[in-house]
Amino acid sequence: MNISDEEKIETLGAFEISEKMVELAKINAKGNPYLNAGRGNPNWINKKARLAFSRLVEFGIEESERTISDGDLVGYTELEGISKRLVQFLAPQTNETDQFLVLCLDYLKNKLGLDLDDVVKEFIDGVLGNLYPSPNRVLKHTEIILNQYLQSVLYNGVDLANDTTLFPTEGGSAAIVYTFNSLKENKLIKPGDKIAINTPIFTPYLQIPVLNDYELVELDLSSKEEHNWEIDPTTIDKLNDPELKAFFLVNPSNPGSKALDDTALKEIKKAVMNNPDLMIITDDVYGTFVNDFQTVYSVVPFNTLLVYSYSKLFGATGWRLGIIGLHKENVFDKLIKELPSEEQAKLNKRYNLVVLDTEEMSFIDRMVADSRSIGLYHIAGLSTPSQIMEALFSLTHLVVSDISDDYIEASKKLVNERYEKLHAALDYAKDESAKNAKYYSMINIYHLAEEKYGAEFSHYLETHYEQIDFLINLAQKNGIVLMDGVGFGANPGDLRVSEANLPTKDYQKIGQQMLELLNEYYQAFKKQS
Ligand SMILES: *Cc1c(COP(=O)(O)O)cnc(C)c1O
Repeated sequence: MNISDEEKIETLGAFEISEKMVELAKINAKGNPYLNAGRGNPNWINKKARLAFSRLVEFGIEESERTISDGDLVGYTELEGISKRLVQFLAPQTNETDQFLVLCLDYLKNKLGLDLDDVVKEFIDGVLGNLYPSPNRVLKHTEIILNQYLQSVLYNGVDLANDTTLFPTEGGSAAIVYTFNSLKENKLIKPGDKIAINTPIFTPYLQIPVLNDYELVELDLSSKEEHNWEIDPTTIDKLNDPELKAFFLVNPSNPGSKALDDTALKEIKKAVMNNPDLMIITDDVYGTFVNDFQTVYSVVPFNTLLVYSYSKLFGATGWRLGIIGLHKENVFDKLIKELPSEEQAKLNKRYNLVVLDTEEMSFIDRMVADSRSIGLYHIAGLSTPSQIMEALFSLTHLVVSDISDDYIEASKKLVNERYEKLHAALDYAKDESAKNAKYYSMINIYHLAEEKYGAEFSHYLETHYEQIDFLINLAQKNGIVLMDGVGFGANPGDLRVSEANLPTKDYQKIGQQMLELLNEYYQAFKKQS
């Protein structure tokens, strides 16, 4: 590929570059097997919750047959005695899935104190999908369960489950889109406002066109060895800027795969004291991959909107399962109440179509309405089967949360093994800090070049080739697809390797192929010098 083609490719987003690389890698020159370690889609799934979902559908059909049964046309479910009938239906002695469902019932009744007929009816109608989501933001018992899950995996001991309102969405992606959209519609961010982002960051955050209207301030909140593991003081200054309206972060980060440490959390808390109206959006989809993870939401709940997704941990990207969480008392509601009266009047007109007391309408309910262009507010909400799938995924954790969650441990072990294999093959320095999720590795080819063949060669590589040349050749010649870190705001030469989506044995091959290609560049360097 010539330089001008390479320059063109460099203008694309990281995901779009990756698609181009896939085309090249499939027909690679060396005839190697094509390996795509670019994408973050896991190659594992959680089986327990899926089997439980299927059992609930089977039981739901039997329930429906009780009221109307005319061939394939069957009826509706009845509340009275439904949980007893479910218990009779289940065969926990012979069926592991039923054992899990019995544990769930026990947990829902004895730990959460819920009325079992009510919950089972919600679950069964939910999986059958026979009713519009009602309430439209989130099903009643589902919200309680999801809150317990988020608290257990993300809050690190801080108790917020009863004070958090939830809006299940079509994946974390929709959560992000709805949030930006409603922030804008409600005039909470206006063109020209200063917004901080923790970089490098998941590209969509850099590519949402409305963000072009804002002054983006880049923050790197990772503590580094050269600063004695403290955060760079100039970064902290930026967070304390009184003109800063909002702060968006991915934690643990993507592509960096690192969670904020206690120092960073403390700095954020301080910044909020100086800047009490700061709006924080935290995307915590990788939280469960770090031991003792603590979300920013649990540190400054009044100021923070939480985004979570089931996609990664449960291998559920096709389901589209995400959540928006917001504290009952929050800065978003406060700022809406403080808007100038003419803005208020416009917003009242906007939401008056669907609610009477517009001024009292919370930001989270405005997001629900905005997600369906207001007019379809009454039929808004995530599909009920999807909401129950979220509840079941959550319950796989909740029923074992006071012992140890073997599933979460297995997921960490798997990405960890792949991380080890890749780093061993490359002989590349590992980051063993407790905050490393190891879901992705960042490998810098210039560092790698220097380690293997010295600084002069590394300099040659940097100055004689486009930064994307190595990535392209790795696909075109060797059949390996990685993700370009530059699109995420990382340094030139940073390549993101996903530890999620290939069989473990392939990570050694990826390392070997990277070294083989590097050696070819080295041979070219030796020839010319
Ligand atoms: C994968 C990912 C998402 C997308 O989540 P979905 O639920 O699949 O839409 C959101 N944020 C980050 C940082 C991600 O890596």
